[in-house]
Amino acid sequence: MVTGAASGIGRCTADLLRERGDRVIGVDLRGTEVLADLSTGDGRRAAAEAVLARTGGTVDGVVTCAGLAGTDPRLVSVNYFGTTELLAHLRPALAAAPRPRAVAVSSVVVVHGCDEALVEACLSGAEAEALALAGRAVAEGRGRQLYPSSKAALARWVRRTCLAPGWADAGIPLNAVGPGVVLTPMAATAVTDERTRRARDAAVPMPLNHHQPPESVAEVLAFLVSEANSHITGQLVYADGGAEATLRGPLA
Ligand code: NAD
Repeated sequence: MVTGAASGIGRCTADLLRERGDRVIGVDLRGTEVLADLSTGDGRRAAAEAVLARTGGTVDGVVTCAGLAGTDPRLVSVNYFGTTELLAHLRPALAAAPRPRAVAVSSVVVVHGCDEALVEACLSGAEAEALALAGRAVAEGRGRQLYPSSKAALARWVRRTCLAPGWADAGIPLNAVGPGVVLTPMAATAVTDERTRRARDAAVPMPLNHHQPPESVAEVLAFLVSEANSHITGQLVYADGGAEATLRGPLA
């Protein structure tokens, strides 16, 4: 199953997996096998039920790409809860598969810090509180913290959850990928508008090959949900043209 499969990284990943012979069930708001709004609890449940109905209760791999950028508080619901709740719904179906794997899409922007209260609300599963904090951040002119905070919460959830009962002990690797600036509809204004592009390039410097095509992320996602991934779990794998290495510098 691939969420966000109607566009960008998700579509590219679904295409790549199909080329390699996998049967892929795409989930998105439109243009995919399963149509669901992952910004709501009902939408996440309906998505999981529709996927299970199509697979008879076993799912080999989950790739979650659905996401929103910008400063709308709802991005917290899609990016964090739309990923983590859906993965929780599907975990038993993954555990029923012979070689299950799961991977989410975070972002290199996590290195820029986040709204810790918002991240904690996410990690404690308090969606209403997270949305209230997100709304307050927007009202106080801190809306730009929402996206990195949602992606930081997601990366931390992956790290915590990979060792929780029912994941590693059930043979399910769980990872996240951290892209830099990917040439998809989401990043369109970041690369076409000169002022935005300069600001984005300063925030996400990419010395290796500069802005990246969605294939550069899809290949990593496809590996992490392939049977070849037997021992990588709990990692945030940066596929970002060296942005994280530039921003954080040498390892201690
Ligand atoms: P995109 O806009 O091309 O695709 C995102 C997809 O998510 C769309 O098809 C959209 O319909 C779907 N989606 C949004 N809200 C949804 C909802 N409520 N329910 C179901 N589906 C929904 O963007 P992309 O660049 O392919 O982004 C994919 C992922 O990669 C996102 O999680 C994004 O945050 C992340 N990411 C993107 C970049 C970038 O530079 N493009 C960088 C780092 C991380």
